[in-house]
Amino acid sequence: MRITVVTAFPQFFRSFLDTSIVGRAVERGLLNVSVVDLREYGEGDYRQIDDYSFGGNGGMVIMAEPLSRALEDLDGPSFVVYPSPQGVTMTQEMVESLSTKDHLVIVCGHYEGVDERFVQSKVDMELSIGDYVLTGGELPAMVVIDSVSRLIPGVVGKGRAVVEDSFYRGMLDNPHFTRPAEWRGMEVPPVLLSGNDSEIDLWRRREAVVRTLDRRADLLCRASLRNYLEVGYYVMWFPPDELDPWTLRTISLSCSSYGVSRLLIPVQDGEVREGFRSLISDLGLDASVKLFPSAQKASQWVLKKEKKQPFSIAIGKGQGEENISWLEVKREILSNSRPPMFVFGENVASEGDVTMRPVAGDDRDRSALPVQNAVSVVLDRFFGWR
Ligand code: SAM
Repeated sequence: MRITVVTAFPQFFRSFLDTSIVGRAVERGLLNVSVVDLREYGEGDYRQIDDYSFGGNGGMVIMAEPLSRALEDLDGPSFVVYPSPQGVTMTQEMVESLSTKDHLVIVCGHYEGVDERFVQSKVDMELSIGDYVLTGGELPAMVVIDSVSRLIPGVVGKGRAVVEDSFYRGMLDNPHFTRPAEWRGMEVPPVLLSGNDSEIDLWRRREAVVRTLDRRADLLCRASLRNYLEVGYYVMWFPPDELDPWTLRTISLSCSSYGVSRLLIPVQDGEVREGFRSLISDLGLDASVKLFPSAQKASQWVLKKEKKQPFSIAIGKGQGEENISWLEVKREILSNSRPPMFVFGENVASEGDVTMRPVAGDDRDRSALPVQNAVSVVLDRFFGWR
C-alpha cells in the first residue's frame, strides 16, 4: 500500500516511520510512505504556504495553490484525506475501508486550517480523530497510518490476529496479562495458565462480552455475536400450509450463511408434515432443517441439545408497546447465555420469551417484507460481518 503525506512539518514523521511496527512495515516494503514537504510548493522567495484568514481573527490559513500543486505532482489516482476536527469521526470500519485504497494521500492542515476551496475541490474525505482540537494534522495523519498499516497482511506479527482487537468485530478485546503470574499479590486468572486452549478461548470471549456490555454497550449495534455465543442459535419458522420450495430454500440458505445451528419447522398436521419432509429431502436440506409436530417439541429438542432453555425471540407484527428493539434483544442474548431462537411466522408474538419489533422499511408498512427477507435482515443484524 502507498501513502503520501503532504505537510509543512515533515520532521514530525522521521522517527515515527522508523519505529516499531510501522517502521518494520516500511522497512519490509509492505507499506510505502512518502512525506512531501509543502514548502517546496510554496510561493515566492519565502516559499509562502499560508496567509491571513479573510474576514477572520488574524489567524493564518494554508493556501489552496501550494496544496493543489503538491497533489498535482503525484502520479496516478489517489484517495485524498484531510484530517480535520470537522470531519466524520474515525472508526475501525473507516480504517478498514481506507486500508483497501491503493494510494492514500493525507493532507495536514495547520493554524486555522486550509482554504475551504481546496477542501471542496480536492478532498475525498474529511476525517476527525475525535472531538478536540489539535495544532496540526500531523498527529492525526500518524493515527491514520498506524491504524491502516495494522490491517495490511503481514504487518502485525505472526499468529497475531487483528480481528481479536477491540472494535474489529464490533466488541472490545479481552484483558491481557503477562509474566509474572503473581504481581504484588495480584494473580493472573488461573485459566490462562491451564494450557487448555478451548477453556482459554471461552474465557477470552466471555471477558470481551462482559467488558463490552459494561463499558461500551453502544458498540453492540455493529457487533456480530457469532463468535461470542457459547451456545448454538436457531431459527424457528411457522410455514404456511402450502410450502413453496423457493421460500424454504431461501430461508435455509440464509440460515446456513449466518451460521444458524438448525432451522426448526413446527407443523401440527401429520399429513402436511410428511409432505414437507419429502420436500426437505428432495431439496437436500435434511442436515440443516428439522421438522417437529409442535413449537414445544422443537424447544425441548434445543434444550436437550444445548443443556439450556432456548431464549425465544418472536418477530412480532406491530403489536406496539410490548415489542422490544433488536438492540435490547442483542444485549439480552449476551447477558443470559441461553441459545437464541428467532421465531418467524404469522401471529407468533405469543411464542416468544420476548417479542422483537419487526423489521420494517418504515412505520407505515411493517408487514410488507416477505418472511425470507425478514429472516435475512434479522440474522444479519445479529450475526453479520459488519
Ligand atoms: N479552525 C479549525 C476548526 O476549529 O475546525 C481548527 C484548525 S486546527 C487548529 C489545525 C489543523 O489541525 C486542522 O486543519 C486539522 O488538519 C488538524 N486537526 C486538529 N484537530 C483535529 C482532529 N480532531 N482531527 C483531525 N485533524 C485535526
